[in-house]
Amino acid sequence: MTNKQAAIKIIKRLSRDGFQALLAGGCVRDMLLGRRAHDFDVATDAAPADVVKIFKRTLKVGAKFGVVIVLVEGKQIEVATFRTETGYVDGRHPGRVKFAGAAEDAGRRDFTINGMFYDPLRREVIDYVDGQADLEKQIVRTIGKPAERFGEDYLRMLRAVRFSTQLGFAIEPGTFSAICSNAKKIARISGERIAIELEGVLVNPNRSAGVSMLVKSGLAEAIFPGLPFRQMKLAIKVLSQLRKKVDFALALASLFSGCEAEFALEKCRILKLSRSQNKHLKFLLTNRGKLLDDRMSLAKLKMILAEPYFWDLYELQRAIEKARPNGRGGIAALGRLRKRIKALGDVELRPKPLLNGHDLIRLGAVPGPGLGQLAEEMYIAQLEGKLQTARQARQWAQKWLQKHRMIEK
Ligand code: ATP
Ligand code: MG
Repeated sequence: MTNKQAAIKIIKRLSRDGFQALLAGGCVRDMLLGRRAHDFDVATDAAPADVVKIFKRTLKVGAKFGVVIVLVEGKQIEVATFRTETGYVDGRHPGRVKFAGAAEDAGRRDFTINGMFYDPLRREVIDYVDGQADLEKQIVRTIGKPAERFGEDYLRMLRAVRFSTQLGFAIEPGTFSAICSNAKKIARISGERIAIELEGVLVNPNRSAGVSMLVKSGLAEAIFPGLPFRQMKLAIKVLSQLRKKVDFALALASLFSGCEAEFALEKCRILKLSRSQNKHLKFLLTNRGKLLDDRMSLAKLKMILAEPYFWDLYELQRAIEKARPNGRGGIAALGRLRKRIKALGDVELRPKPLLNGHDLIRLGAVPGPGLGQLAEEMYIAQLEGKLQTARQARQWAQKWLQKHRMIEK
């Protein structure tokens, strides 16, 4: 059973009990556009208590706000009671939620293209907000006065850019100008919520258009204060050179490609990235430029090649060189590096060291920092292919110890 079939099953059941139930929001927009929708949300005049009673398996995560998750054959469908949201405080949360009818529920939604319903039983679109006309025109427009709607929830400004990027729609001029005049206020929204929408912009193939809008509207500067405007022209070019499918971290590294790593990491702290995303981003930012040295030693090459994000670093550097006016030398260097990598075949990049610490102590090495240095230099010689057997490694280590006078008497 697909998500859509699960949602329709729920709608049929609610209708049988005399309730109005409709598909709502993003899935209606995507169906009308002929795009694949991921979530199929249901909106209904049944109260959360009714929904919980009717369906066997439910999660009452947001029942207070009118949202119940219904589980049908392993699918989770959001069933929300028609509501109005009023008394917004601090541009973030509605103060009061009141259950209402479908038309009012449409009116609380953010954009006209997101404000439609679909009745799958009668096969009709229910459109109180002229969403279909804006879908035709391919524009993102707030429902109601943009300044008011953004004043209720500042995140909607960033969502406008996200939908515009994902759908390739323009932002209606009145809506865009309200974003420009309110952009600064996005900083009052939590970093996690900003990160979700920003990720939507940056991982989309249309990301460079999205970032242009973020820069032009002032949202980019508001999210990352001090972001050098001059560098953004290059960043937008780098973003446009990336392959279609990228991770958030690679896109962020591209956005900050003209900035110092430390500055960029500091700016990204507000996004509250996960540990692995942070590691990924840090690796990309701090290793920029290294792959342009295509004649690096074999050991260095093997070590960096064994890094989990190596190919993202390669992709980032390729995009940077493509975006730079004098990047031809860099592209050529990357090409040569790629050939070297290919020639390595599937050689083991991080083989086990030929000798371990105990072996080295047995040879007379004194435990301590000197031992660490010996182990490291020996491992590099091994990666370089200069040492192939344990016997060779022992001889090499003994010479090293004599040279450094580290043998225990
Ligand atoms: P996607 O396909 O990317 O999930 P979506 O339209 O489903 O897009 P969601 O963020 O999942 O977007 O939200 C579902 C629906 O809830 C939206 O279509 C919109 O009608 C409404 N909505 C979500 N966030 C807001 C908001 N901040 N203000 C007003 N309405 C909102
Ligand atoms: Mg959705």
